[in-house]
Amino acid sequence: MDSVEAVVIGAGVVGLAIARELALRGQETLILEAAPAPGSGASSRNSEVIHAGLYYPQGSLKARLCIAGRDRLYEFCRDRGVPHRQLGKLIVAGRGEIPVLERLARNAQASGVGLEWLDAAALRTLEPELECGAALHSPLSGIVDAHAFMQALLAEAESHGATLVCRSEVTRIVPGSAGIEIGVNGAPPALRVRRLINSAGVQAPAVARLIEGFPPELIPRAHLSKGNYFSLRGAAPFRRLIYPIPEPGGLGIHLTLDLAGRARFGPDVEPVAACDFSVDPGRSQSFYAAVRRYWPALAEGALEPAYAGIRARIYAPMQAPADFRVEGATHHGVAGLVNLFGIESPGLTASLALASEAVARIS
Ligand SMILES: Cc1cc2nc3c(=O)[nH]c(=O)nc-3n(C[C@H](O)[C@H](O)[C@H](O)COP(=O)(O)OP(=O)(O)OC[C@H]3O[C@@H](n4cnc5c(N)ncnc54)[C@H](O)[C@@H]3O)c2cc1C
Repeated sequence: MDSVEAVVIGAGVVGLAIARELALRGQETLILEAAPAPGSGASSRNSEVIHAGLYYPQGSLKARLCIAGRDRLYEFCRDRGVPHRQLGKLIVAGRGEIPVLERLARNAQASGVGLEWLDAAALRTLEPELECGAALHSPLSGIVDAHAFMQALLAEAESHGATLVCRSEVTRIVPGSAGIEIGVNGAPPALRVRRLINSAGVQAPAVARLIEGFPPELIPRAHLSKGNYFSLRGAAPFRRLIYPIPEPGGLGIHLTLDLAGRARFGPDVEPVAACDFSVDPGRSQSFYAAVRRYWPALAEGALEPAYAGIRARIYAPMQAPADFRVEGATHHGVAGLVNLFGIESPGLTASLALASEAVARIS
C-alpha cells in the first residue's frame, strides 16, 4: 500500500486552498479530484463576487471567515496578478423595504463591515438608471476571476510539492489505527494517509457517508439548491454590483459584472433533486420581473440563459441558513480527518481563511 501524509478530496477553490496551505507547511499532499479537470464544480459556477461580509450573523464562521478571507483574497490577487476589481456594490431597497436595509446595516456594523447610506438623489448621480428609494454602498465588495485564482492556488501548491490527480473519485474510506485507507474509482484501498480533508463541496455529505464506522448522525443532509444565471445582451447599464434586498434562500437576483464589463443576472433559487446544470429559458419571466424592480429600462428579449451552479446547502428551504461546518477529530473522533460541510456562498471569498481553519482542525 502506498502512503502519503495528506489527501484533499476535491479540487474546487476550497480544496485547492487547503492543499496549498498544507504544502506551504511542508506536508506531502495529494489532491484527488473526480472530474477530468480542477474547479469544474461550484467554484466555476458562481457570481465571482468578493463579498464584504455584511449578511452573516455576527460571530458565525461565515462572518468571520468571509471577512478574513476577503482581505486575504484581495492581497493574494494583488501579489500574484490575479485579475480582480474592488468595484463596490449597492444594495437597493424600494420604499417599503428600507427597514430591511436598516437591519442589514446594523448587522454589518456589528461585524465591523463599513457601509454608507445613499439616498435617491445621491444614487441618481452614481447610477442614473437605477430605480430605488435608498441604498447601502459596500465599498469593500468586488469581483475576481475565479479560474485565474484557482490556477494560482494550484500552481503554488504544486511548486511546494503537492500533486493533483484528476479522474480519481474517492469511493472507499477506511479509518484504522495506522492511518486512513483510501480507495479510488471502485478499486480496493491502495493508499494510506495520516490526514484526510473532505472538501468535496456539494458531495461532501456523500463522501462522509463512505467513511466506514463514521457516525451517520454527524453527517448533514444535502439540500441541493440550483442558482440560474441569465446574461444581458448589450452594454452593462451599471458600473457597480447591484443587489436587491436578500430573499429566502438567496441574496436576490442581482447584477454582477465580469472583468470584461459584461453583465449577468442571478442566481435565483431552485430546489432540485440532482445536479443538473441546464438553464430553463422559461425562468426568464421571473428574472425580468425581479430585475425591473430596480432597473425598469430592461428591454424585452435582452436576457439569455447563461449557466447554473448548485449550492452546497445543508438546510431545508424554510429553515434558517446553516453556518459553515469545519469539523475535526474533537467533533467526530476520527484522528486526522476534517470534513467541510455547507460550503456555499461566501465560500469563494472565504476560501483562504477556510483553508487555515481546516488545517488548524487537523488532529
Ligand atoms: C450559484 C452560486 C453562486 C455563488 N456565488 C458566490 C459568490 O459570488 N461569492 C462567493 O464567495 N461564493 C459564491 N458561491 C459559493 C462558492 O462558489 C463555493 O462556496 C465554493 O466554490 C465551494 O468550493 P468547494 O471547493 O468547496 O466546492 P466545489 O468547487 O464544488 O469543488 C468540490 C470538488 O469535489 C469534487 N468531488 C466530489 N466528490 C468527489 C469524490 N468522491 N472524489 C473526488 N472528488 C470529488 C468535485 O468534482 C468538485 O470538483 C456561489 C455558489 C453558487 C452555487
